[in-house]
Amino acid sequence: MTLRAGLAAVAIFLAPAAQAQGAPAFPCAETDKQCAWKAMESHATHRLDGWKADFTSPLAERIAAAPPQLVEYLTLDNIFNGFPERPRAAELDAAFLDDVRGALAELPPRISQLIGERLIGLYFVESLGGTGFTDHVKDADGKPVAGFVVLDAAVLRSRTANAWASWKENTPFHAQEPLRLDARIEDGAQDNRKNAIQYILLHELGHVLAIGSDIHPPWYIAPKDLPASASYRFSDLSWKVDREHDSYITVFDADFTQRKNVAYYFGAKLAAADMVATYANLEKTSFPSLYAATNPGDDFAEAFASYVHVVLLQRPWQVTISRSGEVLKVFKACWDEPRCADKRKVLEQILKRLD
Ligand SMILES: [Zn+2]
Repeated sequence: MTLRAGLAAVAIFLAPAAQAQGAPAFPCAETDKQCAWKAMESHATHRLDGWKADFTSPLAERIAAAPPQLVEYLTLDNIFNGFPERPRAAELDAAFLDDVRGALAELPPRISQLIGERLIGLYFVESLGGTGFTDHVKDADGKPVAGFVVLDAAVLRSRTANAWASWKENTPFHAQEPLRLDARIEDGAQDNRKNAIQYILLHELGHVLAIGSDIHPPWYIAPKDLPASASYRFSDLSWKVDREHDSYITVFDADFTQRKNVAYYFGAKLAAADMVATYANLEKTSFPSLYAATNPGDDFAEAFASYVHVVLLQRPWQVTISRSGEVLKVFKACWDEPRCADKRKVLEQILKRLD
């Protein structure tokens, strides 16, 4: 592990048993999903006393390669989900760490304040199986109070902001020349790796902010198990529980027929020829991006990232679909449009007062 002097994490994982006896044996067989689920439920990564959490330390010091017990937890999660990747702690070079620290340091002060009270740490692995990962941490009473964020350093190492955003937004569609989809989230010299990291981080920090809140249902509770009386101030604007199918549906589904086939990262289900109609229907919803239409938690994470990036940091955000250079559709950030007015109001309330 190559860490620059002064960057050692404050959120060092404490594993007394492991320290006393050497590294513990991995608790489950590679294919035993049930074992993985049980081990995850009781795993020390979910307990605040399993971390030396010091929320008074500057955010810039909560950056590190993933400690062994966190790598174990991520491996269990991949076994449970059937992902082939086996994460390992990342080697972080000085230039990469400079970009991560810059991405954090340039967040608006109010965002840093909110995050500072809830982020255990920002940890880096390779072979995560995705770009980012966030999960919750509970206090001694079992109340979710904080979260940790994991990012895949290998995914981030060589991508600029627009290259990463274009790659991500293309993943729901089968590629077919001469149709193209380009995402633009930065201009000129700002289109760099630091700003790619910042945007990805903002999405994960949106997940951290929602932990233990009434923003949207927790991702670790099955939809069918949510109390019938539960209400959520952000996700109730566009989501409903389908108890029969133990899933979430949206209030736009009758007209937004492509939504059920929107799948990011793991296997496109839509044809390139569906791009224009998909984005035309997305414009009739209150979703700030196509990824936001996949589930309530990612709706909020996408809205938070987009709002901070576009409204607070005054940066560009648009998706352009073209054929042989001819522009067919431009989809823009929605914060000044009536379709997102209610979500903007709730976001602004949340940023004023989270609890
Ligand atoms: Zn997410």
